[in-house]
Amino acid sequence: MLLDRTAGLAGDYLTRLATRRAGAITNYEDTVTRLGGGLPQQGTDALAVVEQLASVLGPATVASAGPRYFGLVVGGSLPAALCADWLVSAWDQTAYSRVSSPAGAAIEEVAERWVIEALGLPTTAAVGFVTGATAGNLVGLLAARHTLLARRGWAVEEDGLFNAPPVRVLVGEEVHPSVLSALRISGLGAARVERVPVDDQGAMRAESLEVMLAANVEPVVVCAQVGNVNSGSCDPIAQIVNLTHACDGWVHVDGAFGLWAAASPQYRGLVAGVERADSWATDAHKWLNVPYDCGLAIVAEPNATKAALHASTSYLTASDGREPGDRVLEMSRRARAVPVYAALRSLGREGLSKLVEDCCHHARRLAATMAAVEGVTVLNAVVLNQVLLRFIDDATTYRVIDQVQRGGEVWLGPTVWQGNAAARVSFSNWSTNEADVDRLSAVLTHSLAEVRAGTMKVD
Ligand SMILES: *Cc1c(COP(=O)(O)O)cnc(C)c1O
Repeated sequence: MLLDRTAGLAGDYLTRLATRRAGAITNYEDTVTRLGGGLPQQGTDALAVVEQLASVLGPATVASAGPRYFGLVVGGSLPAALCADWLVSAWDQTAYSRVSSPAGAAIEEVAERWVIEALGLPTTAAVGFVTGATAGNLVGLLAARHTLLARRGWAVEEDGLFNAPPVRVLVGEEVHPSVLSALRISGLGAARVERVPVDDQGAMRAESLEVMLAANVEPVVVCAQVGNVNSGSCDPIAQIVNLTHACDGWVHVDGAFGLWAAASPQYRGLVAGVERADSWATDAHKWLNVPYDCGLAIVAEPNATKAALHASTSYLTASDGREPGDRVLEMSRRARAVPVYAALRSLGREGLSKLVEDCCHHARRLAATMAAVEGVTVLNAVVLNQVLLRFIDDATTYRVIDQVQRGGEVWLGPTVWQGNAAARVSFSNWSTNEADVDRLSAVLTHSLAEVRAGTMKVD
């Protein structure tokens, strides 16, 4: 049957992840050509459609679901989460309300509690299952905007921001671009933010924030970050919360991947105090290893999100209890809590903390090995799952990365850290093991030697 055949094709793909090239095998242009032509006049048998997709698109994928991809902080898909996601597609529920889908609403209620327990957040907090941390940042800022302006007697949802009392927004110098997008969309503005200086690891300086908040008279939102996309560093969140709450401000935390440090007793200290913030954005599709797309928009005061987002019409009946649609921007959407539940159920608390800790240990193992290689500098303090490596100078660093990508055994990409080119290595995949880390060290060391000897591969 079609579904069995599809499962077989997916299974073949996943099996090959262990040995295949980490980068794409076929390129973009050829793929467009093979898929394209005009819209067909006649239909094609469903099995033939699926087989064509598997044969044409499979090789054009980057093996980011596999153990040797260290590029973006993406993670793969835990088996239980992947299969749960297939069920979600088969059920095709509109996870808007208890009426539109009892299944979608019920599993959200349980997954919400589990997420909150896993991350050690306030038990009354509301979790919205959104597309990603970008949407999570937007929901957090909309809840902040609502609350701070309502306190000044301004109904922003009805009256908009024209003539509203000004709201100050402070972000760290190393703010993630998705927070700036959320500020643009929410009308709080990306260019009018005040940028708080950061330390050499990219973490906000609490003493600078203190100076900037002194004599604060306006409603203020401070956007903190746990998990810098380059260094993995976390803002001093306890101090940020103390300073911001002392002037009745709102702390929003972008913890797309870093918030998961809270799930490990060993790494929780990095984000100590995070549970006292007002809103959080994180991803399930990164470190929790569920399939795309799945982010979590978490707000301590559920009424704040409901007031900021609630939409009602005569044909949408809603109960007075927890309704999924009160926590997100969308009405129609897939039941994203299902793979989250499956991931957490299959891991348990122990498996989740081990997943986080293993990734962090891999980062330290790589850093220790590479620090001993002549010509290599580890640019960051490896506190979480991120490692920044520099090979002699900018030009050599870019050449080494290029060489590694051509080789295809592993995949990683470049970044710029404090003005210096670096290779950015992220560990967030459940299936990466120590042998993969050692293979990565060997590839990097070998590639540096090749670049130095001038024996680079050329196309
Ligand atoms: C990935 C990331 C985001 C954006 O998350 P999406 O899921 O891609 O929307 C925001 N902030 C940080 C720190 C990230 O790593």
